[in-house]
Amino acid sequence: MLIASLIAKKRDGGTLRNDEIRFLIDGFVSGAVADYQMSAFAMAVLLRGMNAEEIAFLTQAMLDSGERLPRNKGEPPRVDKHSTGGLGDKVSLVLAPLLACHDVVVPMISGRGLGLSGGTLDKLEAIPGFRIDLSPQQRQQQLKQIGCFIVGASEKIAPADRRLYALRDVTATVESVALITASILSKKLAASLDALIMDVKVGSAAFMKTKVDAIRLAESIVSTGRLAGLPARALITDMDQPLGEAVGNAVEVNETLEILENRGPKEVLDLTINLSAEVLHLCGRYATIDEAATALRVTMENGNAKERFEQMIAAQGGTLTGPLPFASPTIMEADQDGYVSSIDCDALGQFVVELGGGRKVASDKIDPSVGARIHVRIGDHVLKGQPMLTIYSRSETSSPSQSLANVIALSEQPIAARPLIIRRITESELAP
Ligand code: URA
Repeated sequence: MLIASLIAKKRDGGTLRNDEIRFLIDGFVSGAVADYQMSAFAMAVLLRGMNAEEIAFLTQAMLDSGERLPRNKGEPPRVDKHSTGGLGDKVSLVLAPLLACHDVVVPMISGRGLGLSGGTLDKLEAIPGFRIDLSPQQRQQQLKQIGCFIVGASEKIAPADRRLYALRDVTATVESVALITASILSKKLAASLDALIMDVKVGSAAFMKTKVDAIRLAESIVSTGRLAGLPARALITDMDQPLGEAVGNAVEVNETLEILENRGPKEVLDLTINLSAEVLHLCGRYATIDEAATALRVTMENGNAKERFEQMIAAQGGTLTGPLPFASPTIMEADQDGYVSSIDCDALGQFVVELGGGRKVASDKIDPSVGARIHVRIGDHVLKGQPMLTIYSRSETSSPSQSLANVIALSEQPIAARPLIIRRITESELAP
């Protein structure tokens, strides 16, 4: 097979066969397909798209480029959640131990943050001693004893995706729905899951900016999951405002503790319960979603989820005896009465990155103590002088009031609160 002919076939809108896709991916991993050829292929896929079968073939080829996590004998169902990422998204930290209390196991392989969305691993690394690189034996043991872990991806999980993602990042081809689907699902299949729930975020602070694009991605993941043997569902959720109050690393761990102690923001708890109930229902653990949601709420209220979280942190070397320290607070107040009409997540996210709470390039070091707490949500009525935002920064950084003066817009007219869950995508809704 000629590599250039396969690139040309996709460039001209053709449909690639399984053996052709496998030839390209295997060649890419072995070095027979050069980075410039793979980049051209990625651009052809971005412009021409792929049908569901091609995406499933690509997913399988990327999965087969690496290892799959083994399963323990007699193990209960394996489930996971994946979010496309957004500001203040700390759901994974609550969801993994919460699900593990319900006779399923959660082998969560997470990522670091780049740009606006923080990474789950960065948040966990704010906890002194926490290790994200468990050995295969430690992972298996932890799944058996505690039922969950959250770790970084090893080099051995879908190496084709790791290399292809690095190319996509610098060739403007990240946005392809086909490539995103194969990238996410190859890693989830490598974890040997029985069911996956996707949280596809849409809005100004999300990867997918429009509802149409978010639905396209969700449908692609659910339908490719079906073809690749991984039952999946998706919730499309709002990301036009941060999720919860805290944005940053230590502050998000602190908010996680508040949620696990049943005194955190309601919307984060509700989303966590909804995502968890979907996946417990999908893997057959509960007969209905309502039944699953009721059981999950009990586990939150009786403290079992918090206890499981503490066990997971301790098993991975972390020491967390209470809230983590954070940098000096500066409170920003409303300068007039009004209704919150919008929150500029881009500006807030950029500001937290500038403070050192995120990375501009992959090699940047994170300062876990900086961040923000946003005390209002869209639709809230505020009075002049009411605290709206707290910034946690090192004293040497410039005053937040200049950069963030307009981050929260107020209107004189009442503004409707935004629903957090916009749509649910299940297999049964898709075309056969
Ligand atoms: N997350 C992934 O894992 N892969 C993508 O391509 C995009 C988001």
